[in-house]
Amino acid sequence: MTLEAKSKIIEESDFYYDMSYSLACSTFANMPADIGIATGSEATSDISSDDVDSSKEKPNDDLVSPPDAQMKTAALLDLYSGCGAMSTGLCLGAALSGIKLITRWAVDLNTHACSSLKHNHPFTQVRNEKAENFLSLIREWNTLCKKFDVHKSISLSSDLPRTSNENEEYGNEPLLKGTFEVERLVDICYGDPNSMGKVGLWFKVRWRTFDPSEDTWEPVGGLSDSPDCIKEFVQNGYRESILPLPGCVDVICGGPPCQGISGFNRFRESEAPLNDERNKQLVVFMDIVNYLRPKYVLMENVVDILKFADGFLGRYALSRLVAMSYQARLGMMVAGCYGLPQFRMRAFLWGALPSVVLPKYPLPTHDVVKRGLVPRAFMHCLVAYKENEYRHLEKALVLGDAISDLPKVGNHQPNDVMEYSIKPKTEFQHYIRLNRQDMKDYSHGDVTPKEGQLFDHQPLQLNRDDYERVQKIPIKKGANFRDLKGVRVGKNNTVEFVPDIPQVVLSSGKPLVPSYAMTFNKGKSLKPFGRLWWDETVATVVTRAEPHNQIILHPTQHRVLTIRENARLQGFPDYYRLLGPIKEKYIQVGNAVAVPVARALGYSLGLAYQGKFHGDQSLFKLPGNFIPIDHATETRVASLGASKGEVVETE
Ligand code: SAH
Repeated sequence: MTLEAKSKIIEESDFYYDMSYSLACSTFANMPADIGIATGSEATSDISSDDVDSSKEKPNDDLVSPPDAQMKTAALLDLYSGCGAMSTGLCLGAALSGIKLITRWAVDLNTHACSSLKHNHPFTQVRNEKAENFLSLIREWNTLCKKFDVHKSISLSSDLPRTSNENEEYGNEPLLKGTFEVERLVDICYGDPNSMGKVGLWFKVRWRTFDPSEDTWEPVGGLSDSPDCIKEFVQNGYRESILPLPGCVDVICGGPPCQGISGFNRFRESEAPLNDERNKQLVVFMDIVNYLRPKYVLMENVVDILKFADGFLGRYALSRLVAMSYQARLGMMVAGCYGLPQFRMRAFLWGALPSVVLPKYPLPTHDVVKRGLVPRAFMHCLVAYKENEYRHLEKALVLGDAISDLPKVGNHQPNDVMEYSIKPKTEFQHYIRLNRQDMKDYSHGDVTPKEGQLFDHQPLQLNRDDYERVQKIPIKKGANFRDLKGVRVGKNNTVEFVPDIPQVVLSSGKPLVPSYAMTFNKGKSLKPFGRLWWDETVATVVTRAEPHNQIILHPTQHRVLTIRENARLQGFPDYYRLLGPIKEKYIQVGNAVAVPVARALGYSLGLAYQGKFHGDQSLFKLPGNFIPIDHATETRVASLGASKGEVVETE
């Protein structure tokens, strides 16, 4: 319907709406077309088993993706990208649905995370800067593009970007000593790149007769003598899409950090969460969406966003989208439900322009061991089967499924590249070791980089004291610091030192059992120096690898899980290499959206993009062969009550 036609209809009506709101599912969506101008009674409906959209479009038929050449492409901007797990997964999933989603731009503050992203996605414009500066930059960029009328000049001229070598007429002419002449501009940013307290628009200048190592950042005002250089830079930049312009981005995804709501932080601004500087990124994220107006938005966050201050921040995000006339749909997904031995529950929020189809959430493919609490007010946003509903789920994965093929390594492992030594033992291992091409990862174009090597199989090296402690933790299921000499378990499952024996000490003279382990969680914790076991699932992979307050020791080796083992638990393909110091690599992996979750969401995005969803149900079933497993292992009808597949506990 055109806007004109719409306003005509509205004019004649006393009451008009064309979006439905489901309070229970936190969903704002276009009215289904067949309802037309509704009377209101259908507007709010609670979720029921009918919310699973399997009848109309039957997406659970097996996948048949079109040949690559026929695929539509779509441009993705990954904000707060980290090393790029979320966008990687989205692109993998979209490819299976028949859309070539390409990460054109990524933004992150962390230099190492940016290096990892660039390494794995060489064609992405990776911007290592604050998102708030990125927003100012794209505004400036739009102004520059308009000023130089790039749209027109590019289509009229067939100029190719000029490189320094083409600049022959000046090339060999000597410059007077002490003379600086701008050869060309090589980069642009907004902020304070020279850390001089001068915030604004800057260009990186390549000086004539100087090396790239002597490039400097110059304020735009200082380049008034070189307007042609600016024009040339903007024209080339426009042609190469170095920055997104309003209306040119198809999808924005991102996980704006909200450190002000962390469960560990006791001084939280619960009255006015947005006053906390550390929650401001939610506002910045939505401001960028508002400026660029992509067709689709996908935001990820910790579930605390729906718990803290009665879900204030989650409601804020949803209402910002609605205020911008987006359709919106909230969902909580458990990573383990998509084929990982890790629980990890996260909140997601879809946004879609009114002119496109709003994506649904993909139902679980795997069973999972129940953990964690779902905030009561958002209970119906949990992406799960109803208790008494028929479902077909693969068996829950366990640690051994994910890592049992990885070579044995010591506490100190300096090499970040090694050989696998043995073949994959499980379906999961077979899949995770696929190369880029077989996984349908287009980020390297036609080039297939060298693969078949194992990257980042390195543990955080424990110091001498901790290493000595870890060697004394027995190799058995459930072992932890409680098994160390001198500790016993007293009343109420609380640890205490065995009385009347001398304190056992390490070779350094430090106590074998550190006091923080004895007092952690008032002496009730099983976590310090805890060993994982082959048949277990991990609660949540976090950004730190120290064994002091989490269970992270390898089942049979005296070390913490390696970066690659953590990456496997997060579903990163083995070809995805991480860069930076070891601790930074753990941070990138721990921060990531589990790749299989993003992949399932990417598939949903692709279906919506092609208009293949119908009905107002929130959930849909993935195709039977979506998960890369040859055979279905289990078909079950859940019995009422506790089933491993459900995460229905509420606060
Ligand atoms: N979605 C990512 C993980 C994001 S974690 C993935 O799936 O891999 C959040 C990221 O936000 C971190 O990498 C952190 O460096 C980045 N960050 C924090 N504050 C930022 C800011 N102001 N601007 C840009 N990035 C920021």
